[in-house]
Amino acid sequence: MLWSKLFIPTLRDDPAEAEVPSHKLLLRAGYVRQLAAGIYSYLFLAQRSLNKIERIVREEMDAMGAQEFHLPALNPAEIWQESGRWDAMGDNMFRLKDRFGRDLCLGMTHEEVMTAVARGELRSYKQLPQIWYQIQTKFRDEQRPKSGLLRVRQFLMKDSYSFDIDAEGLDISFRKHYDAYLKIFTRCGLEVIPVEADSGAMGGSQSMEFMVPSEAGEDFVVVCNHCHYAANLEKAVAYAVPPSLDDPDYDGDPEPFHTPGRKTIADVADFTKLPASSQMKSLVMVADGKPVLAMLRGDHQLSETKFAAALRATEVRQAFAAEIVDWFGAEPGSLGPVGITNMLIVADSALENRRNMIAGANRNDYHLRNVTPGRHFQPAWHDLRQVNGGDACAVCGSEVKLHKTIEAGHIFKLGYKYSEAMGLRVDGPAGAEVTPIMGSYGIGIERILCSAIEQRYDANGMSLPVSIAPFAVIVTPVNNLDAAVHAAAEQIYNECRALAIDVLFDDRDERPGVKFKDADLIGVPWRITIGGKKLALGLVELYNRKTRETRELPPAGVVAELRKSL
Ligand SMILES: [Zn+2]
Repeated sequence: MLWSKLFIPTLRDDPAEAEVPSHKLLLRAGYVRQLAAGIYSYLFLAQRSLNKIERIVREEMDAMGAQEFHLPALNPAEIWQESGRWDAMGDNMFRLKDRFGRDLCLGMTHEEVMTAVARGELRSYKQLPQIWYQIQTKFRDEQRPKSGLLRVRQFLMKDSYSFDIDAEGLDISFRKHYDAYLKIFTRCGLEVIPVEADSGAMGGSQSMEFMVPSEAGEDFVVVCNHCHYAANLEKAVAYAVPPSLDDPDYDGDPEPFHTPGRKTIADVADFTKLPASSQMKSLVMVADGKPVLAMLRGDHQLSETKFAAALRATEVRQAFAAEIVDWFGAEPGSLGPVGITNMLIVADSALENRRNMIAGANRNDYHLRNVTPGRHFQPAWHDLRQVNGGDACAVCGSEVKLHKTIEAGHIFKLGYKYSEAMGLRVDGPAGAEVTPIMGSYGIGIERILCSAIEQRYDANGMSLPVSIAPFAVIVTPVNNLDAAVHAAAEQIYNECRALAIDVLFDDRDERPGVKFKDADLIGVPWRITIGGKKLALGLVELYNRKTRETRELPPAGVVAELRKSL
């Protein structure tokens, strides 16, 4: 294709509204334009790149035997009511009414529609297993769309759904997806960490996320580089670093002491000159409508996922300030477990065997010293805390690290949640009807592009892999008006086309510096540069965008050499 005929609206400067590198570069390189908050138009270059990503996804899905569907984005409320998610999705779901006043929504995911198709058609266990997928637009009413294409209200997803006769079948479908996802991400040039994850609102038993390490990410994963243990922060387990000070040896009862205006762990640490790990943190939570006091070491954070799992609660939240005053007779900042009888107390296992710690006194501006868990209050013990970087790996004992990541894919074992709720049944081998077991699997298409940009960008722009870059190579004559240069460039361009190499011809009448900058910005991985002086010596340049290495080759051999590198 000829650059002079294309619409590639590059920008000279970083757009002010963009925060993360992928957002800046997608705008600057003329890939996308924002239509409204979290809604983007994909221009020529983005669409080309997304098409390549989709092709890779399709090839790997087809290779596992999955069949491509295309389901409607517009869904009737009824199927979401059947599954119970019409209410559960809350404000995240775009809802609308038709002219007759009937409720509809824009699909955020397609478990309901796929199950509705399956229950209407699948009759016998002999038709199982089935894996159905689509690449389709999803809608989510994000409260705060941001980070360019990373957190948006409309996006593309490859979502697939498996139907199996039993758990062993589901294991196979799940494994197939796991393997295919690794291939897809590798082919798209991404480094990913597969981690055990929480399945949240999706329901079900096992789930894994495919996380791309990136500073632009908002999810943390815990990784052990020694044994390769990796888990989502909300679910990760590790041994806490021991408290920085041994507990005092003392055998008495808690004593109140005055702590005027000292509300936070840091305030009290400063006031008492004792480390945060010598304090207990009291968090008032509400689990399925009931108050629960959660106790943690002062320097630890609560994992709401672990807390919800420990209590087998479906809905958890922090208590409101007014509720806290009502239940404790004191304000947040002075709360503690001693004397609390009107609610369940749970404590994190890092507090087990600790003695004589500091906690709030349930009286404004007072704390207690010498509080011993199990003696001065009786908690239920659970693993409740978020792992910190530097904790000891639960598998091998080495130090774990925290990485910021982007979630690029997610696979779930759904179990019977949707098939049961929506009445999907087939004739079983023994004659009686059985309920198929389901899995659900998603990949964010734009997230692959953003992740690749985030992992590989440099000061000059994007540095995309050949597999997903809009063009594999750009042919750049440094001076279009030089007839020999132009002819040689055109010859190389035509050779590339004859070999089906995805080639862009920079035929613009621009200065060479502008052409090189633009090609680097939009992320073309290879460049063949044809200049007058070199050409007179029988040479052209083959430039690698990523390594910035340039090789000089005769014009007749350059395309063959490039082809080897592709
Ligand atoms: Zn380890």
